[in-house]
Amino acid sequence: MDIQKLVKPNIRSLRAYHAEEIPCKVKLDANESPYSGGRDEGSGSRVKKILQTLNRYPDPEAKALKKILAGTLGVKSENILHGNGSDELIYYLITTFGGPVLYPTPTFSMYGIIAQALDEKKIEIPLDKKFDLDIDKMLAAIKKHKPKLIFLSSPNNPTGNYFSSERISRIIKFTLSHNPYPLSLVVVDEAYQPFTGKSKFLPLVGKYKNLVIMRTLSKIGLAGLRLGFLIANAEVINEVNKVRLPFNVNALSQAIATEALKNKNQICSNIASIISERETLFRAMKTIGGITPYPSDANFILFKVNDADRVYGGLLKKGVLVRNLNSVVKGCLRVTVGTPEENKVFLKMLKQVL
Ligand SMILES: *Cc1c(COP(=O)(O)O)cnc(C)c1O
Repeated sequence: MDIQKLVKPNIRSLRAYHAEEIPCKVKLDANESPYSGGRDEGSGSRVKKILQTLNRYPDPEAKALKKILAGTLGVKSENILHGNGSDELIYYLITTFGGPVLYPTPTFSMYGIIAQALDEKKIEIPLDKKFDLDIDKMLAAIKKHKPKLIFLSSPNNPTGNYFSSERISRIIKFTLSHNPYPLSLVVVDEAYQPFTGKSKFLPLVGKYKNLVIMRTLSKIGLAGLRLGFLIANAEVINEVNKVRLPFNVNALSQAIATEALKNKNQICSNIASIISERETLFRAMKTIGGITPYPSDANFILFKVNDADRVYGGLLKKGVLVRNLNSVVKGCLRVTVGTPEENKVFLKMLKQVL
């Protein structure tokens, strides 16, 4: 019996997402917040209430959650679609609109993995030397391949920088003014937007029909809930909503997220600490010989070393887990900003390993 023969060829060549748990003392590999956004007060009593109604399916439309998020973002509920993490929403977008799917590289790996899982063509355009969009190559590839979807992670994972707004705007306008109209949807993945002041694109959703914004609670202290959102034109939302599984976000996640968003002060102050700690960490890394840290608008820092595999292994031996990106961005590691104590341990161990 050969199960392989039954598997679709595009899945056969795919490898399962590498998410093994590596034991460590200081975990700085997954861009999680070091601070949990879950709270005892409020959510505690809400959770108790939910426990008594777990025999019922959750609200398929997540109305309470969407309402509070709409207020926070200054949009209408009809412009929001909720997902089990943004990963699920990437799945839904590609299921709804199909390929080709175009994105710059290096970037978030899920765009390519999900495009392949759904057997859609991938178009990858390398970033320029400053890790910004190579606008001429992007526009040429868009003209040639006519992608249905363009994914732009800004700030970008794993490089950490925000793409030039002017270049993103050119891509949106180019695909919008194309005949037939619009040529592509442009998905600006703002997973790391909370760590930068610069979100110019959310207010443009009303203006550009082909603009989709993606946000997530994963990087601001609630990765365990699995909640992501699309913000777009109601027509786009309605189409993607057709492929959404009816009960994609469970009752506990809905209730806890609603409570967390009602009391945003804690989340906001945690974000402010992470931003300030990122600057401290960056300055400290710049003084270390033999490494090059890249400026970041996110909650992590990409840095180049002489022997990435050795430094990665050396740090791990000392209990510090970072992300080894050597196969994606040659010679580079990515460290998530942790608590001040965690960052100190990281810096100390890094110096020892070097
Ligand atoms: C972490 C990350 C996400 C978040 O995915 P979730 O499924 O919401 O946890 C989305 N986009 C980028 C670029 C990321 O780095």
